[in-house]
This record gives sequence, structure tokens and C-alpha cells, in this order.
Amino acid sequence: NSPEIGSRTRTRAIMEKYGIRTKKSFGQNFLTDLNVLKNIVEAADITANDNVIEIGPGIGALTEQLAQAAGEVLALEIDQDLIPVLKEVLSPYDDVKVINQDVLQANLPELIKKEFKDPSRPIKVVANLPYYITSPILMNLLASPVEWATICVMMQKEVAQRLTAKPGTKQYGALTLAIEYQMQAKIAFDVSRKVFVPAPNVDSAIVVLTPRTNPLPVQPFDKQKLFGFIRGCFAHRRKSLWNNLQSVIGKDPAAKEKMTAVLNQLDISPQIRPEKLTLEQFIELANALHQQNL
Ligand code: SAM
Repeated sequence: NSPEIGSRTRTRAIMEKYGIRTKKSFGQNFLTDLNVLKNIVEAADITANDNVIEIGPGIGALTEQLAQAAGEVLALEIDQDLIPVLKEVLSPYDDVKVINQDVLQANLPELIKKEFKDPSRPIKVVANLPYYITSPILMNLLASPVEWATICVMMQKEVAQRLTAKPGTKQYGALTLAIEYQMQAKIAFDVSRKVFVPAPNVDSAIVVLTPRTNPLPVQPFDKQKLFGFIRGCFAHRRKSLWNNLQSVIGKDPAAKEKMTAVLNQLDISPQIRPEKLTLEQFIELANALHQQNL
């Protein structure tokens, strides 16, 4: 009848017993607050009918909470030293599988098919993400063909603010738009740095992503090119859209004339900053420039 893994006492005991020293290189900051852990599971809306993929289980604090709520849990941990620890501390739970896997190298559809007993149930991602690769992990999840029912993840507060930013704000940018393209993002709650071992030097927030309920108002001619274009438009955030377009497309007079016509037609001022444009406007702009062979 030991206390739950996410309690300070149990975490300390596990780390001592297995001689665990957290690795900075893997972004290891273990969460030691049962309230926060339970609130994450609640924000993710996990039920016994859900399959959960956890990225980076650490020593299993969140995994244990997920195991109690979900149908099945599949946890992917890159640090092989933690695998025997996880196997032992999670042994009381059926329907939890831990594998030694770098999530950035994972073939997620294949893992889902292979590792879940019933792969047809909704798949939810829940994680306290390693901060150093938050964006690549999110981009990977969104690029995969899996239809995530929910992605509920903890990240650095500043990144959470970028994911949920509104046009015209400093935080709004290519990452915001890449998320908005597929998902609705909302910050569930903030988390103090004090509840981690070791404490990171930033505060965190839980972001919940759910699939868009309303379809995109305009379809891009090519999704990858759209995002290449958007990144180009944000390359010099403090310059005007016009200046950025010139770096993306070129300064040739004929091209400039076409760009002016396109902006006119879309009623977009060349002097505005890129961060003022909505996703819909970026798609319309990319499509119209493409039509002009630019
Ligand atoms: N879930 C635990 C908790 O909440 O206490 C640990 C969270 S810790 C912030 C991040 C975890 O992700 C670590 O266990 C780390 O080893 C793991 N990790 C880092 N990079 C990873 C990767 N590329 N693939 C899978 N796991 C990774």
C-alpha cells in the first residue's frame, strides 16, 4: 500500500532505490504534485473507453493516474535506464505498456495497431513534454495520419501562449497557425515550476488540443507549401508584410506588380505586419500568389 508515485515521498523513495539522477539532456523534470497530475487527467477527459499514448513517462507519476482512468495506456520513454523502473513501479496496473522508444522516431499508426488490444477506441495523447522538443513533438503528432481525439500536454508557459495566441499579438506566429490549421487550442491551467523535481527555470501550462469542429474556410493549394510560405512571411516579424513578401518571392518588377495586384484584390495592406493576418488570409494569399505563378 505505498503512496502514489507522484507524491514527493514516493518519488524520492523510487529515485533513491533505483539510483536515478535526472538527465537534463532528456528534459527530465518529474512532476510531484498529485493534484496537478489528477487535474491533467481530468483536462484530458480520459474515460475507460480511451486508449492513451503517454510521451515520456519518467518514473510513472502521470502513467499511474492514466492507468486508473483509461482503457489502455501505451507509454513511450526514450531513456532506457527508466524502463526497468517503470516496469516495476507500474506492475500493479494491467493494460499499461511501456516501451523504450524515441517518440520522434516512432511510427505511431503502426504502434497503435500493434500495441493496443482494441485500437479502434479513441486515441488520446497525454504528456508532460520534455521542453527542449515540444514543437517538434507537436508537429510530428499533427503530421501523422492518426486522428487524435485529444492532445493534452504540459509545456513551457511561453510556448502554450504561442499555441493559443490571437492575431496581432507578439506570441502569434507560424506555430500558432500550424496548430490552428488542424486543432482548437486552449490553455487548461498553469503549473508552477515548484512542483517539479528538479525545478525547471520556467513555469508551465497545460494545453488541450481538440480537432477543429468547423472546417477550414478555404483550402490551400498545397499544405506544405502554405507553411513554407507562412514561415517565410514571419522571417522578419518587425518588418511589413510587403518586405517579407519580397524576401520570399523576389524583387523582380513584374513579380512586384503581380504581388501588388494580389494584395489589392484581397484587400490586404502591404504595410501591415505579418502577425495581423488570419489563417484564412494567409491561405487566400498563398493561393492567389500561386495562381499568378509566384
Ligand atoms: N511524465 C513524467 C512526469 O510527469 O513526471 C516525466 C516528464 S519529463 C518532463 C519528460 C520525459 O520525456 C522524461 O522522462 C524523458 O526521458 C522523456 N523523453 C525525452 N525525450 C523523449 C523522446 N524523444 N521520446 C520519448 N520520451 C522522451
